[in-house]
Amino acid sequence: MKTLSLLLIFFTNITCKESTTVYICNSPGAKKYHNTSDCRGLSNCTYKIVKVDIEKAKKDGKTLCGWEK
Ligand SMILES: [Zn+2]
Repeated sequence: MKTLSLLLIFFTNITCKESTTVYICNSPGAKKYHNTSDCRGLSNCTYKIVKVDIEKAKKDGKTLCGWEK
């Protein structure tokens, strides 16, 4: 039981430390968000690349770009 609690604390800490900022192309047609600003998926973005909170990106209906992984 003690081990389980420690594991839970461990995973909670990982989640908290994870970066929640993602990059999106500020284009009206952009449907993806990116973990890095130099992602291949952003290279053809002719609009501004903006940093947003991942929760906001998801709320806007954006999904993780296919190049990430
Ligand atoms: Zn990407």
